[in-house]
Amino acid sequence: MGYHTTSAIERLWKQTIQESATKCWLPQIFVNKLGYACIYYHGINMLVHRFSAHVFHGLDLKSDLQANHKRECPNRHCWNPDHIYVGNQKENMQDAVIAGTHPKPPWIRKHNEQIISSSSPIRKDLGNNQK
Ligand SMILES: [Zn+2]
Repeated sequence: MGYHTTSAIERLWKQTIQESATKCWLPQIFVNKLGYACIYYHGINMLVHRFSAHVFHGLDLKSDLQANHKRECPNRHCWNPDHIYVGNQKENMQDAVIAGTHPKPPWIRKHNEQIISSSSPIRKDLGNNQK
């Protein structure tokens, strides 16, 4: 961890409040419309949770991988490394589905419909006709 990184962490930490209920690290800085916060780091505006994943989880900033918030973290601008994991876009979408923030994908709906139809009266009639 270079000096630049250390000072960036210190700078962000001084502006951060720890939420006691969630243990979230919430920076008291500008949060954009989508709920994300950015810091200026290495010449670019970087999302704070991506910065955290880079510093604490060794996320390669040039890779396709991204920093995702765990399901139990309700704050998109939280940068607590315990609330963040490195993953890909697909894992992020799956988590969002489980957390209920995205509509259910078609395969889950289909599965439920099959369960309903197998125990429906129509199905029973069909069985009787086959006798
Ligand atoms: Zn959090």
